Amino acid sequence: MTDKPSVLITGASSGIGATYAKRFAVRGHDLVLVARNIARMEALAERLRIDTGVAVDILPADIADTVQRGAVETRLREDAKIGILINNAGTSLAGSFIEQTTDDIERLVTLNTTALVRLAHAIAPRFAHVGEGAIVNIGSAVGLAPEFGMSVYGATKAFVLHLSQALNLQLGPQGVYVQAVLPAATRTEIWGHAGVDVDTLPGVMEVADLVDAALVGFDRREAVTIPPLHDASQWETFEAARQAMIPGFGQSRPADRFLANA
Ligand code: NAP
Repeated sequence: MTDKPSVLITGASSGIGATYAKRFAVRGHDLVLVARNIARMEALAERLRIDTGVAVDILPADIADTVQRGAVETRLREDAKIGILINNAGTSLAGSFIEQTTDDIERLVTLNTTALVRLAHAIAPRFAHVGEGAIVNIGSAVGLAPEFGMSVYGATKAFVLHLSQALNLQLGPQGVYVQAVLPAATRTEIWGHAGVDVDTLPGVMEVADLVDAALVGFDRREAVTIPPLHDASQWETFEAARQAMIPGFGQSRPADRFLANA
C-alpha cells in the first residue's frame, strides 16, 4: 500500500502497457492491470510485487466487449484510489482497407476508440470533482500520416489525438491532466498482429525508450508527447498553422473559389 494514486493500465500484458506498469511500480504506485491474457498479467504482477513491494490487482477483460468492459468502467468509477488511467490497449489490422473485413474493422474501431473514450468518461467526472487526476491516451504518429496506408488504424489514432487535446482543454482547468502519447514504430507484438516483421522496418524504437520518453512528457505535463519527433518546432509550427485557421471557419458565405462563376 502507498499513498500515491493507483494506476489502471489497459493492455498491460505486453509491450507499452507492461512497460508503463514496470515504471509506475518503480515509482511506488499500486497498479490495476487490464488485458485478456491472465497468465501474462499474473507473471508480471508477481514480479512487480516482489521487486517493488507495490500492490498489483489484475482485472482480466476484453475491453472491446461491452459486458467485460463494464467491469472496468465500474472499477474506474468506484475505486477512489485510482488517480491515473493509462488508456493503452489497442491493436492494428493487416491488409489494405478493401482486404480487411467489415467485422474486423468494427472490432478495431471499438477497441481503439469506443473502449478508450468510455474508460475516460468513466473516470473523468470523479477526477474533475476532486480536482486532480491524469488520463494518458496512447495514440500514434500514424494518426497524423494518412500516407502510411493504415487507413482505419490511423483514423482511430486521429480520434485519440483530437479527443485528448479537447479533453485537456475542457478538463485541464478543473485540475485533470490529459496527455496524448504518439509513438511511431516501436518494437512490440503489435507488428506481428498486423502481419508485419518489425525487423524489416527502419527506425524502430525500443519500448523502454518510448515509455521513458513518454513519462518525461507526463512529468512535464505536456498535452501531446511525440517521443520520436526530434525537431519539436515542427509540431509547434503544425499546431500554430491549425490554430490560425480556426478564426476563419465562422463565415456566412462560402469562399470565393466555390462561387459558381469563380
Ligand atoms: P502489444 O504488445 O500488442 O500490446 C497490446 C496490448 O493490448 C496487450 O496487452 C493486449 O493484451 C491488449 N489488448 C489487445 N486487445 C485487447 C482487448 N480487446 N481487451 C483488452 N486488452 C487488449 O502492442 P503495443 O505496441 O504495446 O500497443 C499498445 C498501444 O500502443 C496500442 O494502442 C497501439 O496502437 C499503440 N502504438 C503502438 C505502436 C508500436 O509501433 N508498437 C506505435 C504507435 C502506437 P491481451 O492480448 O492480453 O488482451
